[in-house]
Amino acid sequence: MPKQENLFRPQTLNDFLGQKEIIKRLKIFIYSAKKRKTVLDHLLFYGPPGLGKTTLAQIIANEMGTNLFVVTAASLEKIVDIISILGQLNAGDILFIDEIHRLKKEVTEILYGAMEDFKVYVTYKSEENTKAITMNVSPFSLIGATTNAGYLTAPLRDRFAITFKFNYYNENELSLIAKNIAKLFNLTFDETCYLEIAKRSRFTPRILINHLKKIYDYAIYKNLKEINYFQLNKAFKYLKIYRYGLNDEDILIIKVLYERFLNQPTSLETIASCLNENVNNLKIINEPFLVMSSIIDRTKRGRILTKKGQEIYQKIIEEDNGLN
Ligand code: ADP
Repeated sequence: MPKQENLFRPQTLNDFLGQKEIIKRLKIFIYSAKKRKTVLDHLLFYGPPGLGKTTLAQIIANEMGTNLFVVTAASLEKIVDIISILGQLNAGDILFIDEIHRLKKEVTEILYGAMEDFKVYVTYKSEENTKAITMNVSPFSLIGATTNAGYLTAPLRDRFAITFKFNYYNENELSLIAKNIAKLFNLTFDETCYLEIAKRSRFTPRILINHLKKIYDYAIYKNLKEINYFQLNKAFKYLKIYRYGLNDEDILIIKVLYERFLNQPTSLETIASCLNENVNNLKIINEPFLVMSSIIDRTKRGRILTKKGQEIYQKIIEEDNGLN
């Protein structure tokens, strides 16, 4: 079985499924940059985690025939950290900074000059005097990735030529990705399985891949070479991956709303205290998906289980999917 996440990453723009609008525009920019023999403009990738931002950055580097350097904002603690990275870049290289909205102010300020005219401006202050030093950087492209484009400073945002917003994937796109990845495993699925795996992947390729890895482990454990729809559902049950990709925590939230507060708007704090959970965990991890899937509604007076949410809960109970 392939071990590293990299093995699951498509390598060319044509292999990358989904995000059609982004791919269409990128093809033009890449073609034009190559024709003009210039570096690619700086790009900002914006969207939830697991949708392919890093993967696409690697593909762009492949297509441009350059190197990709991947760093997270958290690893760029000091000015010297960013200067050191910039100093390693060769002409045309791509620097990918993940979670770029988390960069410190002084590190961001170094980037302004580097992005604008490939120069780094540093000021050294000592007791006697202040020295300004300018350093040249090889022409490079910056790809910034963020889940919160609104947190970027305006001068940083303005230095990106284009912002690409990554959207969640639909079931057909995820089914195709599942099919492609299944080929990398020594395992055969019935055709109907791909859509079911897609449906439980919360619109996100990373989640889909994690499901496939777990199903693969399950298949080894059960000594299965082929998986049909029935066996897949058994695997999901065993792995506690419920309909719509709900997990145990989601189910508990739905359960509280159904069994204790049906048709009664309830604050997140109340739900959290019923579950002995931290409110922020519910707010950041569980609620966005439940709202997006129209399972709960966020009203001014509190959270309420929708009709769809009620039906889902009843179905899950019927299936006896291992609720506590
Ligand atoms: P992000 O940087 O947005 O958090 P990644 O690029 O790390 O997401 O993608 C997470 C996983 O999902 C990787 O294993 C990647 O190969 C896979 N993936 C993401 N988008 C696609 C896609 N469009 N086609 C195939 N696999 C994808």
